[in-house]
Amino acid sequence: MEFKRVVVLTGAGISAESGIRTFRDQNGLWEDHPVEDVATPEGFQRNPNLVYQFYNMRRAQLLDASVVPNAAHQILAEFEAEHIARGGHFTLITQNVDNLHQRAGNQRIIAMHGQLQSALCSVSGLSIPWTNDLTAEHHCQCCETPSSLRPDIVWFGEVPYQLDDCFEVVSKADLFVSIGTSGKVYPAAGFMQVAQESGAETVELNLEKTSSAFDQGYYGPATEVVVDFFSRLMQR
Ligand code: NAD
Repeated sequence: MEFKRVVVLTGAGISAESGIRTFRDQNGLWEDHPVEDVATPEGFQRNPNLVYQFYNMRRAQLLDASVVPNAAHQILAEFEAEHIARGGHFTLITQNVDNLHQRAGNQRIIAMHGQLQSALCSVSGLSIPWTNDLTAEHHCQCCETPSSLRPDIVWFGEVPYQLDDCFEVVSKADLFVSIGTSGKVYPAAGFMQVAQESGAETVELNLEKTSSAFDQGYYGPATEVVVDFFSRLMQR
């Protein structure tokens, strides 16, 4: 079958081989911090400095010369260019807040959980490009009275960016590929079912199986299974 409308959902696993740790270890911690402390609005209210500091470290990591897009990021960019050139539709929905898909060259990206290299005005909701440390002392230039800025990350309990667009493309997909995501964070975790109910072929590419509901699954490091899968798709 020739797939016209391809949607890829990525999670932290695709960036693991670029040196960025995934979200949950076995104790439910993110880089050794309880999720409630660093990824909720309540955690930010309780201890803003800890939260600024946490994302400053993640943001600084993106400037490290050793953190670069890996072969899995690269093949997705190649696939997008080729698929679009052939008249297909492609959307990459990422839960990742790193910038590796952007750096690899993908164009149609929905960064549904925000981005590390961006700050958010807490009053206007404007996203502002930001590559350095962010602190409580920084203020926006968009409001009449400069307002405080926070990391531009969608925390638990907040609504992801472009959620309507996500559901729209997922429900129209004829191929839905989930890469390196544990499928535990909603609403992204529900996209596979929406795609399947709308008639898409669903594929999981991961280090290990997260669900038996996918139509196909290929398991191993992203730099192997993602490259294999999309190379084969491009050869069709
Ligand atoms: P997760 O940590 O819950 O799951 C990671 C998944 O990746 C697991 O299923 C694991 O088996 C798989 N995996 C690990 N190494 C892999 C590899 N080398 N190749 C293929 N698969 C591999 O991550 P999630 O599902 O994305 O949810 C975490 C949330 O945390 C996201 O919403 C994101 O906002 C945030 N986060 C982002 C980053 C990032 O931007 N790189 C990193 C950590 C957390």
